[in-house]
Amino acid sequence: IRNVSKIYQSAGRELTVLNNVNFSIDAGSTVAITGPSGSGKTTLLGLCAGLDRASTGSVELNGVVLDKLSEDERAAVRNQYVGFIFQNFQLLPTLTALENVMVPLELRGAKNIKSHALELLDKVGLADRGHHYPVQLSGGEQQRVSLARAFSNKPALLFADEPTGNLDAETSEKIIKLLFDLNKDAGTTLVIVTHDPDLAARTNRVIKMKGGLIIADENPSYA
Ligand code: ATP
Repeated sequence: IRNVSKIYQSAGRELTVLNNVNFSIDAGSTVAITGPSGSGKTTLLGLCAGLDRASTGSVELNGVVLDKLSEDERAAVRNQYVGFIFQNFQLLPTLTALENVMVPLELRGAKNIKSHALELLDKVGLADRGHHYPVQLSGGEQQRVSLARAFSNKPALLFADEPTGNLDAETSEKIIKLLFDLNKDAGTTLVIVTHDPDLAARTNRVIKMKGGLIIADENPSYA
């Protein structure tokens, strides 16, 4: 991320949500992004993952410069390298839990999609909920389906927006273990937005934000 700003137009006024942000994240590392509500964490995560475009500055993801790519080209980069866990899950409402997990596998043209998706649901403790639609799942269950979906491609990078925000302590610990196992076993780079100081403390590096600026970067590899 180099000299990245994000400016929204809101009610005829400009709102600077990210103000000239710079950092680089080492492949295979684990990073927490923390900071008060409204400080720009979700916006930053979306730009890093290629979900949205910066107003100014440059974003490079796994060696690919995203700035001049079309929407479709950015989607192709995401399908290849990125898993994303959204704060509000964003499961597809007309698909069952199992079908939601199958989507990225289908996009990638993987084999044995159904059995692989079932395995992933089992990993997050939801083997018996595969036929449920999102509306028939609790918030925490939807969160876990969203995790299984994000894991399915064994992504090079996993971006998670408050992945434990809706979970009880026991489920939260299970999810954190799954995330860190993925990092350890598959070398997946983890970038996690979190308000949970215990989760942040377990990462290699903590980036603290306030008012669209990075105000602290503990153990940075680059600044
Ligand atoms: P939280 O911890 O509450 O999730 P956050 O740090 O993730 O907050 P963001 O979601 O990145 O914060 O939002 C940063 C600011 O940008 C907020 O003030 C928000 O109102 C504003 N914002 C976000 N999206 C838009 C948009 N599409 N148009 C206008 N303003 C926006």
